[in-house]
Amino acid sequence: MAAPVPITSAAGTLLYAEDGSTYIDAISSWWVNLHGHAHPYIAEKIYHQALQLEQVIFAGFTHEPAVRLAERLLPLLPGNMSRIFYSDNGSTSTEVALKMSIQYWWNRGETNRKKILAFRNSYHGDTFGAMSVSDRSVFTLAFHDLLFEVIFIDTPTLKNIGAIEQLLQQQGEEIAAFIYEPLVQGAGGIKMYEAALMNRLLAAVKQSRIICIADEVMTGFGRTGKLFASEYLTEQPDITCLSKGLTGGTMALGATSCNQYIYEAFVNDDAFKTFFHGHSFTANPLACTAALASLDLLEKESCRQKIKWICRSNTTFAETLAEGFPVKEVRVCGTILAFEVSQGKDGYLNSISSSVTQEAMQKGVYLRPLGNTVYLMPPYCITEEELAKVYRVITEILAQLKQ
Ligand SMILES: *Cc1c(COP(=O)(O)O)cnc(C)c1O
Repeated sequence: MAAPVPITSAAGTLLYAEDGSTYIDAISSWWVNLHGHAHPYIAEKIYHQALQLEQVIFAGFTHEPAVRLAERLLPLLPGNMSRIFYSDNGSTSTEVALKMSIQYWWNRGETNRKKILAFRNSYHGDTFGAMSVSDRSVFTLAFHDLLFEVIFIDTPTLKNIGAIEQLLQQQGEEIAAFIYEPLVQGAGGIKMYEAALMNRLLAAVKQSRIICIADEVMTGFGRTGKLFASEYLTEQPDITCLSKGLTGGTMALGATSCNQYIYEAFVNDDAFKTFFHGHSFTANPLACTAALASLDLLEKESCRQKIKWICRSNTTFAETLAEGFPVKEVRVCGTILAFEVSQGKDGYLNSISSSVTQEAMQKGVYLRPLGNTVYLMPPYCITEEELAKVYRVITEILAQLKQ
């Protein structure tokens, strides 16, 4: 393992290291950064908010940044969402969604619905509930005995969709919720799957009255070319999980939205029906302010155009890559581009990952392959020269591998 690199500052897509090196952050610091680092507009808003109200208990109290953020998010979210529940990261946003779904059925007295349906290869976070619904892997090995039972299915293909529909007919009444990363499975290796078949799967899931949870923690806020990946689908979620890009990647915040049906199951004089879940920093005013500022930037026409431009550039580059380089499965979904390097052993821990990371860094680009999967997910502020450099560095490294 290489020693961690001390970073002293950052601006735009660039990370500045203590030794004077600079790196283009081509993966948005693990998929969080949207508009570039240390963005002055977001920083300014956080500064003014910090002088006014930095934190207050979010039980029995409320505040303007939280209310305004909910009011702005709700109309943007696919699926006719009616409420926002705040937490403080992506894992907690999925924990909240799972607990909300289980308790929804409990509150309604349908206590036989407890199982969760999830995709193989999925990733929903690192806390126990989130780990349980994520694919079992080397990262979760030590905990397998303690994770709750989940029904895992593969992402839909023409081959398996019939069997999945059958499974739903047989076991649908025991399933509380289905959690999925819409169209792109992130940490599982940037795997992409088709919208048409996903619509068919979601329709079958809904027919069994199963709650649909879209985990848009990674795909949200423009990454796939649309504001949310669920916009590519006709079948909409009941619950959506957000984090990562929510604050433009500046502060920790999680949000779980739900539709009116879910919400109403909790509105009752009976205290036992309350959703008892809260974190110290739930709806932190600084984080909500950062999220509002990030939305301001995201809604600018220039940002929308930039996202479209990254999508187009990726498509062109994907065509170049597919011809004459030792790669497989070149794929693009909006601003996300990924491919497999067809060399080296497969598997997360003995792959080309660390050598590609090192070589790219020597050339001034920060990439961090997942096993043999190399991918790009740049901040939207990336310049033409910078994106060209990232593409060039990738082809240089691949050309070397070929020899
Ligand atoms: C990163 C991620 C999470 C977990 O978010 P954290 O903030 O790292 O806890 C959950 N779901 C998806 C799809 C993610 O990509």
